[in-house]
Amino acid sequence: HGPHPQPICYLLCFLSAPSRIQGTRPISLTAAAMGFFGSGKAGDSGGKERLTLQNVTEFIRKKECQRVVVMVGAGLSTPSGIPDFRSPGSGLYSNLQQYNIPYPEAIFELSYFFQNPKPFFTLAKELYPGNYRPNYAHYFLRLLHDKGLLVRVYTQNIDGLERAAGIPPDKLVEAHGTFTTATCTVCRRSYAGEDFRGDVMADKIPHCPVCTGMVKPDIVFFGEVLPHRFFLHKTDFPMADLLFIIGTSLEVEPFASLAGAVRSYVPRILINRDLVGPFAWQPQYSDVAQLGDVIGGVEKVVELLDWNEELQELIQRETEKVQRDHAGICCLKSRNS
Ligand SMILES: [Zn+2]
Repeated sequence: HGPHPQPICYLLCFLSAPSRIQGTRPISLTAAAMGFFGSGKAGDSGGKERLTLQNVTEFIRKKECQRVVVMVGAGLSTPSGIPDFRSPGSGLYSNLQQYNIPYPEAIFELSYFFQNPKPFFTLAKELYPGNYRPNYAHYFLRLLHDKGLLVRVYTQNIDGLERAAGIPPDKLVEAHGTFTTATCTVCRRSYAGEDFRGDVMADKIPHCPVCTGMVKPDIVFFGEVLPHRFFLHKTDFPMADLLFIIGTSLEVEPFASLAGAVRSYVPRILINRDLVGPFAWQPQYSDVAQLGDVIGGVEKVVELLDWNEELQELIQRETEKVQRDHAGICCLKSRNS
């Protein structure tokens, strides 16, 4: 917060989030499940039993929830060691300190970027694909996809760990952009982020091979429009029959308002350190909050679903793949040298 504009907040007015106040009836839930939801108006638990995590995981097991939308924020990636550029103590923070940035958010402001792109590329170097690994919670989302349950993951994170976990790009909305692609700030040509890996790692500012303009990774800066894909929310949320909200404070708009864009009886599971957003100020009987450690919360869900073995196998496979790839790169290097 503070005096600086929130990214993209002007887009809030485009959000249509009236659905939770309309008390429509479930269509994909059995009569037994409907007993929990009843027909009470939104925001009024009317003495009905609140849903529990057990109830919701039972819906998944019985295939009564099959269109899962997920919203994630920084709390999902903290266990992967992704540093917060505003937190003193991290290496990234001290690397950025040398530039005397007027305030931390300035590194995402275009005017500052054109004046001094180095701080942003210091962050880019840290977060470029490959430095960090997805964690247990990312792979849980991958497993949702493998089981055909995932409609979409909406992420505020720019670390690319959802992709790294093997969730296909078409299942992702990277609301604040990505380092996997980049655009020339002058001629607007689009490039693969990989094309500039060498420059970024060598602390060089990447330039367009065609027009020599500065190339900027496709991270959404303050005042820039959101990726077109963000507007998939207009169909994704109304059709969802389950919403997971993981590791986000639900403070940054327009992302935060999406939590209210599912139908009123649709279960919403918050897995987060604290109670946030509508879970705090207007809890409904279809809301479930699993508070505390994010990985611990996801483990609880996985255990109730009895997916633990499958998830461990997936993580094992993916870890071996990374080690093989890494070994491959090393062999290639030694052969070339
Ligand atoms: Zn160019």
